[in-house]
Order: sequence, then C-alpha cells, then structure tokens
Amino acid sequence: MIDIDYKAKLDEAVLQSDVVNIFATLLTVAVEAGASDIHIEPLESYCRIRIRIDGILEELVQYPKNLHESIISKFKIESGQMRPDEKRVPQDARVSSVTLTNKEIDLRANTLPSVWWECLVMRIVDKSKKIPPLEQLGIEGSNKDIIFRHLEYPNGIILMTGPTGSGKTTTLYACLDYVNTTEVNIITYEDPVENKMAGLNQAQIRADIGFSFANGLRGGLRQDPDIMMVWEIRDRETLDMAMESAMTGHLVFSTVHTNSSSETITRVYNLWAKPYMLVGTFNLVMAERLIRRVCDHCKIQTSVKDDPKYKYAKESFRNFEKEALKKEILSRGIDQQQRNDFINNAMIYTGSGKDPITKEKCAVCGWTWYKGRVGLFEMMDYTDEIKNMLLDGKSSFEVESIALERGMINLERDGVFKIIKWMTTLEEVYRYVKAKFDK
Ligand SMILES: [Zn+2]
Repeated sequence: MIDIDYKAKLDEAVLQSDVVNIFATLLTVAVEAGASDIHIEPLESYCRIRIRIDGILEELVQYPKNLHESIISKFKIESGQMRPDEKRVPQDARVSSVTLTNKEIDLRANTLPSVWWECLVMRIVDKSKKIPPLEQLGIEGSNKDIIFRHLEYPNGIILMTGPTGSGKTTTLYACLDYVNTTEVNIITYEDPVENKMAGLNQAQIRADIGFSFANGLRGGLRQDPDIMMVWEIRDRETLDMAMESAMTGHLVFSTVHTNSSSETITRVYNLWAKPYMLVGTFNLVMAERLIRRVCDHCKIQTSVKDDPKYKYAKESFRNFEKEALKKEILSRGIDQQQRNDFINNAMIYTGSGKDPITKEKCAVCGWTWYKGRVGLFEMMDYTDEIKNMLLDGKSSFEVESIALERGMINLERDGVFKIIKWMTTLEEVYRYVKAKFDK
C-alpha cells in the first residue's frame, strides 16, 4: 500500500517544483508500495507519475508540463549514461540508488520520445528483497511433485518461459537456491545480475566486449561446473551450448521468450534444433504468470453463473483423465464444499473493498479487492510419451493436447484450481490466460 507520509512529501515536492525531492520521495513511495515500475509521462495538457503495483498501474501524482523538462534532464544528468540534449531517440541507463528508508535498489531506465515530450520509465530491482523459497510461490498439486523431482536430476535442461514481470526471475532464483549446496559448483551467466546469492559463481555478461551467453557457457565448461544457469536463450549458438552442456552431464537452467511451454517446442525448432536434440536434453519447461490474490479481509462469496468466463473455466477440465483429475484435486487440498460451490453453484470468492464489520473502506486492500500476488504455473514434463511423440514428428499442438489429457496443469487449469480454492477470481485469471475454448 502507498505510504501516506511519503506520498504527502512527494505532493509537497511537486508543489515546490523541487526536483531532487521529487525523485527521493517518489522512489521511496514506489519501493515501499512494492511497485515494480515507475512511469513519468507527459500528456497533452499535464503530466503524471504512475507506479505499477501487483501488475496494475496506479496514478500517484499529476504535475504541470513546465516541470517535466527539469525532471527528465535531472534524471539524465544524474544517470551519467544519458545525453541530456538528445531528445529524439530512446536512451537507456542503469542506476543504483538508495531510498529514504535505506533500501538499496537498482533502476533500469528508458526514455521514449513521445509526441508530448519524453516519457521516462524505470524498472525497480529491490536488492533488499529476499528470494522466497519455492514452496511459497504457489506451485501446487502435481506441479509441485514435478518440479522437486526435476531439481534432483544431475543433467538436462529446465526452461522457464513467460513475459517480463511474470515472476520467472524469482522462480529461477528460488530453484537455484534449492539446488545450492556445498557439494555442487553452480555457475550463472546473467544480464544483469539481479540478486547476489551466497554460494553461487555469478558472472555478468558483457556482450559489448565479446562475453556473450554462448561464450560464457563454452568457457564455463572448463570451470568444472555441476549446474549452470544462462539468463536467456535467444540465439542458436546459446541453445547449442546449453544442449551440449546438458548432454555432457550438467543441469542447465535458462529462460526463453515464449508464452507457453508448448510454444517453446516451436521456438526451439526455429533455432534449428532437431527433435532428437530436444528429446535428449529437455527435462522440463515451465511457464508462469503472476496474478493478484483476493483480499482475505473483505472477501465475499459471489455468483458467476452468467459470466462467460465461468464456462471457459469449467471447459478447461474437458479431456482431463478422470483418475488424474481426482488425484490433482486431492493433492491440492480442495475440499468437497469448495468443489460443490464452484462446479454446482457457480460461486466464487472476490474482494468487496468493504470492511466486513464496519462496512467502511477495507484497511487491508483499500478499494482494490486484491492483496499480494501468487504465481500461475504450467509445467510440461518431458515424459517418455512426449519424447516419443516428438521423435515421431508430432506438432506442438498434438503434444500439448496429449499432455493435457494426461493431466498436465497449464496456466488456465492452475488458475481455475486457485479460483476454486478462494485465492483469486475469474477476472484475474483470464486477464493473463487465454481460454483454450476461445481459440
Ligand atoms: Zn480488502
């Protein structure tokens, strides 16, 4: 939630056109609210500052246009990496800073020349934030068994997919933290190193001087590693090196930019990998999205009988083998009442924004209905059946449909289970997940 005192100081700094204090208070408000990004934007007749909290933008303050130029130039000068006189092309900077509450942060900033002047967007990397253990990220049911089983394997590739802000970085670090013992040598190639972890040999990639992901992996093999993490596979060379490392007895973690675990198959083929290479190296592909949790303090039961998304949600269990479904429900701790509420009565829980006793504004979530976030996880386990299908030249669609039949939990199914467990809403799940039924 937004700290009222620092917010008042920010308003004051804006009133006084005090640019130094605008930055100091703004950073503090944003970090204390747990925001991931800060947007400083000129509009036609005024400017505004918004911050992204739990995935949703919220307006913090508005200010007159004449103040905008000094805010942008101040930032450019302070960063030491942007040219103040250059206003026609986008510019990037990475800056370290400290909030008024003494938290160390890194900012990744980018300017964009818009028709109303330049926008400045800053991504916040809060270095004081602890990586939560894997168990707390929202990995449930069969997904939990799958991931812990794969973290015990000595070799192969574990891939994470998902757009920026999907939580995949945190999950990747949580996986590394889990396998991080004194008995293994772990090397990571990152860009940037977002979180320094004791016991890991973390290297910052410098593509500008020839230290690329692929070169890192190649050299890394001579550092006697057991486990390697390469931040992102985006070219053929890196994929080749990751596969070679996996084939020579190493466990390799990485990420790819795709939306789902099945799309990853197509992506990897497009990077020229052959099915036999995929089959020989891939262990697990995970996808993730972060969704908001309903506020526990003000949540109420509500009917979704007439919501078309309710139909999609029920439809997501179509083709789910009966026995596998039973097992999944059991392992997620979903009780008879919760099943009955959802399946027979179309009832779910959602925030109300109102305190249940005083009927005033809920002190926990404000009017937002939500508090905190939880991950939706999809896991494609490369079982023998899937490997055989790939070797037979089956498409990613065919592979996905068989996996779903066998009980693979995709993002949608994980979301529906979390709705049934009163953790989130239909609205929130389908904001991030496209219904299969809809295609
Ligand atoms: Zn609430």
